[in-house]
Amino acid sequence: MRRRNRRNDPGNRLAAKLIYLALAALIAMGTGKALGDSGNHDAARTISSGGQAGESGKTAGAQETEIHYIDVGQGDSTLIRSGGHTMLIDCGLNDQGTALQLYLTKQGVERLDYLVLTHPDADHIGGADVIITKFDIDTVLMSDFEKDNKTYREVIDALDAKSLSWSVPRPGEVYPLGEAQFTILAPNREYTDPNNASIALLFQNGENTFLFTGDAEEEAENDILASGLSVKADVYKAGHHGSDTASSERFLEAVSPKYAVISCGEDNSYGHPHAEVLNRLRAMKVQVFRTDEQGSVVAWSDGSEITWNCAPSETWQSGERTGSAGK
Ligand SMILES: [Zn+2]
Repeated sequence: MRRRNRRNDPGNRLAAKLIYLALAALIAMGTGKALGDSGNHDAARTISSGGQAGESGKTAGAQETEIHYIDVGQGDSTLIRSGGHTMLIDCGLNDQGTALQLYLTKQGVERLDYLVLTHPDADHIGGADVIITKFDIDTVLMSDFEKDNKTYREVIDALDAKSLSWSVPRPGEVYPLGEAQFTILAPNREYTDPNNASIALLFQNGENTFLFTGDAEEEAENDILASGLSVKADVYKAGHHGSDTASSERFLEAVSPKYAVISCGEDNSYGHPHAEVLNRLRAMKVQVFRTDEQGSVVAWSDGSEITWNCAPSETWQSGERTGSAGK
């Protein structure tokens, strides 16, 4: 994991340099510790005994968990509450920040163990400045893909205003969330398209697994498969809002989900979800939930069984492309 801190005052730069030198010395001494292990949070529990995280022998315990695939219109935001711990993956568009804040507050959320921003597109980080400002956050995980626009700068400014640094997680790292845990699956290299630079992760609560791939497209899906990390999941949040640029057949076969959740806006101009993806899911007998039809979708997991707040969608209705071929 690489750590970032964008505060620019010289004292911080010096401190960062000293920390870097100290870490470099530790590594040179052969401690084998990951870079972030001396950070200010529960570091990734991993990589100690030489194996990849997925093979490290650490099995997630089970605890009462609820996963909210929040209806943020055309965008993504998922809240995971697990055994008193909380994480939020993405924050929807700019105009969703306050609604998202209210949703979290209504759920009794006061602080986040983790905020994961999968990649810097506005439909994922737009509302993040509000969330960063309003909640205490232990650990911020971000893609290393940077953008030079107002939305991205607002997120960085909000982090700076709270003196929060962020980390770029690496595939194979395992992070605890109480007894549950999540494993980073991507990004596996640098990409020219921010979608492919999405952080992907597999959340595991006992025997139940939930996959999140942001807007990763087929190219990044293939890299995840090539990494050898397990993608097998009970619940798959359809990549890229159900776009046919993601959820390739090969990837879906490896995930082999029982359920899929599609997060997209009603009548969105991209035509999400695309018919190709719905057809693949239907052929695989996957039960599909959709935020555009059903609003926020909530899954409960006790570590062995998963239940839902609504019945699966049975419309199999694809969207209609009305805007420029898009994101
Ligand atoms: Zn998106």
